[in-house]
Amino acid sequence: MSKTGNITFTIIKPGAVSNEHIGDILQKVTNAGFWIAAMKYIKLSNKQAEEFYRVHSERPFYNDLVKFMTSGPIVVAVLEKDNAVDDYRKLIGATDPSKAEEGTIRKLFAESIERNAVHGSDSNDNAIIESNFFFSRSERFTKDGDFLTFSPCGC
Ligand code: ATP
Ligand code: MG
Repeated sequence: MSKTGNITFTIIKPGAVSNEHIGDILQKVTNAGFWIAAMKYIKLSNKQAEEFYRVHSERPFYNDLVKFMTSGPIVVAVLEKDNAVDDYRKLIGATDPSKAEEGTIRKLFAESIERNAVHGSDSNDNAIIESNFFFSRSERFTKDGDFLTFSPCGC
């Protein structure tokens, strides 16, 4: 049986991982009502990081960003909750931690605008694209233990 749901995709970035904040961040995520539908601990290849951040390839920080994102292990995860994309971006706070609200994940755990602790999808479409980039359907689950199928693509 499958279930549709509102999902977002997140990365706990190098920096937050090496500073041992995985547990603190996941605690905030689950306390905020997100279900961890999929999760793994990986290290990105250059090719994967370049592809994931292709939308930023013309930005001046692109090469440094790819270097940073391949510098150590990361946690990738699919999170399920009503209104997941917007609620997660509120929970993580502004890209630049100096502008992030008190109590947000980036305010608490980011080191700089580049080393900003976590990624969160910016739209429902990108949440599905990014989740499919890292997980197959057999690797993501509903709270009831069924395989999670994304809506509206049915993928
Ligand atoms: P993310 O996509 O990681 O959730 P975001 O949507 O808040 O972050 P984007 O504009 O998509 O921000 O930038 C992607 C990532 O590029 C940022 O999270 C950050 O790591 C890096 N970045 C963005 N702006 C800068 C900058 N001015 N200098 C250095 N790195 C930057
Ligand atoms: Mg972004």
